[in-house]
Amino acid sequence: MLLSASGRAPILSFDFPLSRAAAEARLAAFLPEAGRAYAARRNAEAGPGPHDAVSRLSAALRRRLISEEEVARAVIAAQGAEAGAAFLRELFWRTYWKGWLEQHPAVWHDWRGRCAALTGEALPAGYAAAVDGRTGIDAFDAWVRELRETGYLHNWARMQFASIWIFTLGLPWELGAAFSFAHLVDADPASNTLSWRWVAGLQTQGKPYLADAQRIAARTGGRFRPVGLATRADVPRETSAAAGVPLRVPLPVDVSAPTLLLLTPEDLSLETETALAELDVRRVAACRQHCSGPADIAALADGLQRAAAYWGAPAVWLDDLDAVAAAAQAEGCRQIVTGYAPVGPVADSLASFPLPAGLQLAEHQRGWDQRAWPHCTRGFFPFAKHIPALLAAAQVEDRQSVLAETS
Ligand SMILES: Cc1cc2nc3c(=O)[nH]c(=O)nc-3n(C[C@H](O)[C@H](O)[C@H](O)COP(=O)(O)OP(=O)(O)OC[C@H]3O[C@@H](n4cnc5c(N)ncnc54)[C@H](O)[C@@H]3O)c2cc1C
Repeated sequence: MLLSASGRAPILSFDFPLSRAAAEARLAAFLPEAGRAYAARRNAEAGPGPHDAVSRLSAALRRRLISEEEVARAVIAAQGAEAGAAFLRELFWRTYWKGWLEQHPAVWHDWRGRCAALTGEALPAGYAAAVDGRTGIDAFDAWVRELRETGYLHNWARMQFASIWIFTLGLPWELGAAFSFAHLVDADPASNTLSWRWVAGLQTQGKPYLADAQRIAARTGGRFRPVGLATRADVPRETSAAAGVPLRVPLPVDVSAPTLLLLTPEDLSLETETALAELDVRRVAACRQHCSGPADIAALADGLQRAAAYWGAPAVWLDDLDAVAAAAQAEGCRQIVTGYAPVGPVADSLASFPLPAGLQLAEHQRGWDQRAWPHCTRGFFPFAKHIPALLAAAQVEDRQSVLAETS
């Protein structure tokens, strides 16, 4: 169980899958629900509690304790691609947002810059009441409490929450995104930043998402009856350069070179990648600098154990990248290998670290990302047309339709 920001046990207990075994168990338990039941129930917001109409795999997927490919494979094997289509589409939103942000890194850096500037000034009126859940808007205040106490909000609640923040409370979307990024156990640079921009009407330009009091009352079974919600949405000013940049091409891994394997919260199941099976790993390391809270520490500890056992190399926690480079040199390593770090804090830290002479940083990029990201240049719906081909390329076989064809 995760402790709340105050260090007390949360009022609501919420078990996140923060090890690979827990992610596999969560996936296995959810598979019977991942088909038509998910399509029918995924938007029901039953209130704080187990949220069992959705998978609650995001904390594990975000850190790749389990990969999108593994989850897609299991869902298709259990449900078939047709019945599993709604779940697979949601899964691909994660891939899409990552691929889009990779090609618009300025959006991430501008958001960080705006947050620093906004928090350096006097915080806007209403900000304190919003983050304390004292706005008097019943649904909003309850979602603030749930987010703070559990580290999770249902996707539909996240949409209402962001919309009320921006359009009813008139607060900068950047500060709302910073608040949820700080509290979500699945906090993800791409999904969080770009979902906030989507609600604001900046991502799908001119199409903001306006929360509606009646819809909230209906979807929550009358639990909430919010009053005073905005009835129009004025899209905030765009503060980020729109031009895209080419995808970054990382230095490839040399499997025969003596290696320090650096695990980060960006990819914690590298041992499942056959391309790395023969990697000459001398040491496995994780860096405290890359942990933003207890969830990262738990997930990295699990990743370290598995990697150390798989490659037969000792594992170590280190404070920062200086210590990682020193450990690599002490082991006679010529390269540090890590999972590809998409736009976000880990990539920022790696990009700004000057490696000592004789040591290279190589990133292992998964085929799933390599194939999908070039299609993440426009909206989600043009991207979604590629989903069948992407699944086929990942050789995610639709056993249900094979069975149907052969019976
Ligand atoms: C304002 C806002 C902020 C968000 N911030 C984050 C964030 O920081 N981290 C994060 O992982 N997700 C974020 N999301 C997306 C989504 O809300 C969560 O991924 C989802 O609620 C996680 O719960 P689940 O695993 O039970 O999802 P399920 O419904 O079971 O979906 C399965 C998986 O599909 C992916 N997925 C589903 N919906 C989305 C979506 N809309 N966007 C991207 N991926 C999706 C996730 O990997 C999820 O685990 C945000 C959405 C909004 C509207």
